[in-house]
Amino acid sequence: MFFCSAGNCYATDFIIVDVSQQLYSYESLCEDMVLLTLGHEDIMSYESRAITSQGRNVWLIKFGDFQAENKILITASIHAREYMSSQLVMRMLEEYVLNYDVPNSDGITYRQCFANTCFYILPMVNPDGVTICQNGTKSIKANANGVDLNRNFPLGFGDGPRVASVPGLAYYPGVSPLSELETQAMAILLNENDFCAGINYHSMGNIIYYGASTNTPEVAEGCKKMADLVHAINGYRREYCGNAIGSFADYFGTVEMAPSVTIEIGTANPVPISQFSGIYAKNLPVWPIVAATSSLTN
Ligand SMILES: [Zn+2]
Repeated sequence: MFFCSAGNCYATDFIIVDVSQQLYSYESLCEDMVLLTLGHEDIMSYESRAITSQGRNVWLIKFGDFQAENKILITASIHAREYMSSQLVMRMLEEYVLNYDVPNSDGITYRQCFANTCFYILPMVNPDGVTICQNGTKSIKANANGVDLNRNFPLGFGDGPRVASVPGLAYYPGVSPLSELETQAMAILLNENDFCAGINYHSMGNIIYYGASTNTPEVAEGCKKMADLVHAINGYRREYCGNAIGSFADYFGTVEMAPSVTIEIGTANPVPISQFSGIYAKNLPVWPIVAATSSLTN
């Protein structure tokens, strides 16, 4: 089966990443990451950046030109029930890796699209939460400690709507900023690298969130431009975030002085697998275009 987007046709049948099953598990992710790297060690590698309280790895995948100046950070499943974001990122990665040197209808390859670009991908930031969700606690966003990891960052910590005062399924920011192993791993990654852009995958709503009141004018403008760029590709509506609420995007903008967007996929949580192919078709062209634009502005 094929689908066509922006003049290019892609095979939708999976080879490695199974997009026919609802529950994309931590174990599936580990297996897919290893299989996808095999034979592609020149453009893909992985390492563990943290071990969670339940003993799972927070994986970092590097993809592209390892020596590149342009580093783009991709994150998925910081929120447990939003695990389709991991499946999306891994399936997109499979497409790019397996067809790295295959020219599209314009004669351009992914290798050319991603020249001087390396993607740093955290495909499942919250593997404990994902597993708890898939084992039956469907509404969970938090990690195994009941901390909402996307409220555990320093900028705007404890602010924002719906803050919970005790550990639970969502909106509890933790006892202090960066109290969690998962968020510490993300903060260390930012300290070690100079990222030129970031994309955070969440669900749901078909929305592109961007910006924070804590951003400098330059970063604010970059976030707006990036949101416009992604909107032109996937058609999701754009929404400015406003005040910092302890989210990773708030922190990224200030620490990295670089733009990012948060892409909310699907129309339900967890997103039903029936929506996957449509989401994939709309979002597959995002990384090449963001890479091309980032390398022009960096
Ligand atoms: Zn989310």
